[in-house]
Order: sequence, then structure tokens, then C-alpha cells
Amino acid sequence: MIARVEPLTTTRRLAGPFDYAADGLELEVGSVVRVPFGRQALDGVVVAMAERSEVAPERLLAPSSVREDRVPPELVALALWMAGEYCSTPARALSLVLPPAGRPRTELWAEAAADPDGARLTERQRALLAGLPRPAGRELSALRRLEARGLVTIAPRARRRVPRTVPGADTAVELTAEQAAAVAAVDQGGAWLLHGVTGSGKTEVYLRAAAAARARGEGVIVLVPEIALTPQTVGRFQARFGDTVALLHSALGEGERYDEWRRLRSGEARIAVGPRSAVFAPVRDLGLVVVDEEHDPSYKHEGDPRYDARRVAAMRIRLARRAAGGEPAETARRPTLLAGSATPRPETWHRLAHLRLTERVGARPLPPVRVLDMRGARHPLHPETRRALTSARKAILLLNRRGWSNFLTCRNCGKVWECPACDVALVLHRAEHVLACHHCGHRERVPDRCDGCGSPAVARHGAGTERLEAELAEALDVPVFRLDADTAGAKDAVTDLLGRFAAAPAGLLIGTQMVAKGHDFPDVTLGVVVDADATLRFPDFRAEERTFALIAQLAGRAGRGPRGGRVLVQTTAPDAPAIVAAARHDAGGFLAGELERRRALDYPPFADLIRIVCSAEAAAAPRAAAGAVAAGVTGTPGATVLGPAPLFRLRGRHRSQVVVKARDRGAAIAAVRTAVDHAVRERAHRSVAFSVDVDPQ
Ligand code: ADP
Ligand code: ZN
Ligand code: ZN
Repeated sequence: MIARVEPLTTTRRLAGPFDYAADGLELEVGSVVRVPFGRQALDGVVVAMAERSEVAPERLLAPSSVREDRVPPELVALALWMAGEYCSTPARALSLVLPPAGRPRTELWAEAAADPDGARLTERQRALLAGLPRPAGRELSALRRLEARGLVTIAPRARRRVPRTVPGADTAVELTAEQAAAVAAVDQGGAWLLHGVTGSGKTEVYLRAAAAARARGEGVIVLVPEIALTPQTVGRFQARFGDTVALLHSALGEGERYDEWRRLRSGEARIAVGPRSAVFAPVRDLGLVVVDEEHDPSYKHEGDPRYDARRVAAMRIRLARRAAGGEPAETARRPTLLAGSATPRPETWHRLAHLRLTERVGARPLPPVRVLDMRGARHPLHPETRRALTSARKAILLLNRRGWSNFLTCRNCGKVWECPACDVALVLHRAEHVLACHHCGHRERVPDRCDGCGSPAVARHGAGTERLEAELAEALDVPVFRLDADTAGAKDAVTDLLGRFAAAPAGLLIGTQMVAKGHDFPDVTLGVVVDADATLRFPDFRAEERTFALIAQLAGRAGRGPRGGRVLVQTTAPDAPAIVAAARHDAGGFLAGELERRRALDYPPFADLIRIVCSAEAAAAPRAAAGAVAAGVTGTPGATVLGPAPLFRLRGRHRSQVVVKARDRGAAIAAVRTAVDHAVRERAHRSVAFSVDVDPQ
């Protein structure tokens, strides 16, 4: 037999797979091998088995070793599809589905081997025998003596390294009529959008759908946004399904990750819960994929391949169906995709069948939202916001801008302090006494005078979370908690902070969009969005969608308890459709209008977007390379090519981008791949890095 091996290298230039001799080795699709390659040895994955090779038998080499852990064949197929779909390489895509590094941890266990009746034993030996089976631990030498007498056997057993989690409570509830209807629909299989307002009990629907899948003997994947921000969902799955749940996320130690992967691969665990990469969990007989908070941007991976876990989940389901025996007969149940959100993306709304949860559990009303016009305002907080914050016991305030002030200028000569490596202004972080670039991490000392003209008149403009925190801590009598990328750094910092806010009888939680994620604090009565325009002004076709989601999600944190609540939204664009619709809790109206706009402008879901970014240290090189890619794609049927257009310099690299709007997704992806592969090989573009983003976020 011949094994076709894709070597795991990062270069785009090597086009595998390559043939190796498989005789005498236990190889199959998904085996992870080490192979001789030229003068080096590389890791690789077997992507196909074949009877014969074009390579002469005497020239065929054999793998030097085979790992015990293998990739399930359906994940190999998934990776190869991803490599094509995202204009990446098989090696890069396969590296996402590999078994994690590590090995099982074992410990010695002692078991009773024979009836000890009649044996002469000390008191202590009798006690030891009565406690079997047990880990040998400190009693190993005593147990070894009993083993020598044939009374005990001692052998290694695997010992699971259990990830630490926030324990969740599981309360038995009776489904509402809307929940019951949703559960019944999902039971039929297919792809569903669960559109449920915040606090409507979507998680309970996921739990029931998972229970039904388990009852049919199927495996389940549950995708959640960042685990640190949604520990409650994970806790509830663990509370209901116990050890059959495996947790997969980036904060796990190597050993924990390895054990959780093994438990899924062996079938000991059947439900995988984790962020986007859990879509690659080796779950057996996959019957259901849940995508919680499907609008969350974290489902898009920003490395190569730039995959979208929601789209990959849909493909995985299609492959699972194929693995279950071709296209199913009418009677066969189809694997299910269940995506849920209070603020679904227009694409999902358009593509999937809808299930509705229109009411909060317990018929609690959604909080009224008031829009505060900030045109001409001189202070970052509206007087009404100040009043509301003073009287609220527990509140959440969202400002999507961290740091103290957004930028510094010289009052005398007009100099703006900018990052030396990126074309953006530096942000003042006062507590640390630095100016920081939020794009590359560059930091420098805070100036006490202008280095251009020597003037000491350096002005600070705008307010970020750090400044608002300081001002409000001064003005209010309640403790203020800040949650943003600056305070979330350390391990467990987010969990600790959210825990302290939850436990506090009164307090203000202030931060970036992290404060609007799915938290369930029943005693929060006030939500405030400061500067709702920050996302709206963003030059991106998703600006409206993001603004609507941000306001609606923040509103979702307020008034979940018996005391009700309200929401204030500060904006200089009080008539913007996204803000008006969010204030009315009108997701349907917003989505209908947004889809119309997208149809008129040829944006997703009516066309697919592909973005190609070329970057280099020299100023002219990226534009020339982007021009070559644009020329290569122009003329593809159904494709409109926009650009090249310059992007701001980032990390010292000049950049230029091309955007392709495609009516025929497959044809456009193929054309982009060909054009990029071509440009990569041209001498003139040698200094240029190419990055392709299909379905940019
Ligand atoms: P969502 O995810 O839609 O925002 P959750 O799933 O967090 O809402 O549910 C909100 C609260 O309502 C949770 O505390 C949950 O335990 C509770 N809940 C859900 N369904 C029911 C039900 N049928 N009866 C009573 N309580 C419920
Ligand atoms: Zn100056
Ligand atoms: Zn920078």
C-alpha cells in the first residue's frame, strides 16, 4: 500500500501530497507520521491510501514513525475543504485538526487479586485490602509486598487531568410553549436559527436538543464565544451532562487539552463545548452542532486559514451526513445545526429557517431604551446619564474605547502623537504613564512637552474607559469595576472580576464590548451605551449590524430580575436606523431594512466578499502586487473587483487591498487562488506578503 502524505510545512510553495511506502505499518487516512523529506524529517498527515504510486518502488521511502493518536478521517476531509475554501494550504488547514501534543498521564492502581481469607495479615494490611481498588500512592511499597504474595495486582491506569470550571447549577424547568415548539422543530433535523430575545431561555433549548441527540446515541458540539466571558453556559452543560462533556479552550493546560481530546476521540465524552476551534473536536457520530451567540465576531479566525467556524460547522454536518452513509433516505434524520442569537447576522437570518422566542422567561419586559442626543455636548456623559448612574444600585456602562484619552496634540504647532510603525494616533494610558498603539503594541513615555516646537501645551482629547472609570469612581458611592483588554490580561482575571461584580450588592461595571456579552446578572437595572456612534462610524459594511447588536446585547444585560431596568444610549446620530431599531427592540425590522440595503449594494448574503491584503516594508510594492491580483481576477464571471485601495500602515508595513464581490463564490475563490499563486511566484513581488480573507468579518 501507498500512503499519500501532506507534509506540515508553512510554505505556500510546496504542493503535496507525496507518496510513501506503507507496507508493514498500520496506516490509514488521518495517521500522523514523521517522514524523510529531502535532507530533513517532517511531520505529516496521511490524506489518502492508494494501491500504487507513480514513483518507482525502489525510490519510495517509508515514514520513520507513526503517532498513536490519529485525526478522524472526516476531519481530514474537512481540512482539505478548508484549504480550498479559504485559499490556504492543506498543511495549514491540517495543522488545525491535529491531535494536541501530549500523552496520557498514568498512575499505579492496586486491585485485589485473590481472596485473603486465611492469609496472615497485619491490621494495616487488612485495612489496605479492604480499600481496594485504589491508587497506590504512598502505600506503593506496602502494596508491592502484598503483590509479591499474590494478593494484589498493580498496574498503570490513565488518570484524567480535569479542567477547572465555574460550577453551574442545574434547575429542572418546564419549557415555555415557545421553547417546546423550538425543541420539537429542532428534533426534525436541518439547519435552524433560534432567534430569541435576551433572557428568553435559549440555553434551555440547546440543552434539550443536546439531550435528544444523546438519546439517539449522537455526539454534540456546542460552540460558544470566549469561555471566560460565558462561563455560565459551560457550567450549565456540565451540570446537566456531567463527565460526558469535554471542555476545549485555549486556557487549558497541555495535559488537560490532551485528555479532553482523547476522551472525545475514544467516545468516553460525547459533548464538546468550546470556542470556535471546538468545531474541530473529534466528536463521534456527530448529530448536532449548536452555535451560541452566532453573531459573535470571535467565530472568525484571524490566522491562516481565515476560517469562519459557523460555515465550517455547516460543512462538518454535511460531511457527517456523508459518513453516515451517503445522502440519507427520506426517513433518515439529518444532522442538525442550531444557531442562536438575540441579534442574528443578516446572513444567518436570510439562510436559515427561523424559530422564535419572543418573550423573556417569566414574561419580564425588555427594558425601555432611551436615546440621548449628544450633538453639541461638551462632556462625555449626558446629564440624564449622570442622574441615572447616581440613583442606580447596579449598572453596566459600555464605552468601546480603552485607555485615558484617544489622542494627544500640541496646542502650539498642531503635532499629533502617532505610532512610529502604524499610521494611527497613540492612546494615553495614564496609570502606566505610557502612550500605546492599539494596533501593534508600541509604547512610549508620555511627553511633557512637544518634541517639535518645545511647547509644554499638550492637549488630551476624548475619553476612554480608564478616564471614565476614574471620574465615576470619584462621583459615585458604589464600587466601580473596569473590564477591558487592559484589565483582562491575567489568567482568571475576567472570571474574578465578573464574580466580584455579581457578588457586590451595588456597583458599576464599565468597559468595552466585553461587558455586553451573555452575562446574566439579575440585579442590574441600568445599562448605558456611551458613544454608540463609535461602531457606526466604522468604515465597514457591518457597521450597522454591529451597532444594532451592541445596543441590543447591552440592553439584554439590564432588567433581567424582578426590579426591571432601563437603558440609555448616547449618540450624535439619533436617527440612524440601527439605533432607532435597537431602541424599539425591533430586530425583525432592522434585519429587513439591512437586507434591503445589502441587496441594493450587492453585499453578503447576496454576494460573497473576498479581501486580499498585500503588505511590504517598501511603500510601492504592495500596490503593485495588489494590482497584479486585481488584474488576474478581473474578467471572472460574476465577479466585481474593487481596488487596489491603500490601507493605513500597520506594524511598519505598507498595505494595499483588493476586494472581490462575487456572485459565483466557487469561481471567484478559484480565480483569487490562481491570481495569488501567480503573484507569489513573481520576482517583482518577492518582498510582499499576501493574505486572503474569504467572508471578511
Ligand atoms: P438567553 O440565553 O436566551 O439570554 P437564558 O438561557 O440565560 O436566556 O435564560 C434566562 C434565565 O431563564 C436562566 O436563568 C434560565 O435558567 C431561566 N429559564 C430558561 N427557561 C426557563 C423556563 N422554561 N422556566 C423557568 N426558567 C427558565
Ligand atoms: Zn508643538
Ligand atoms: Zn503601532
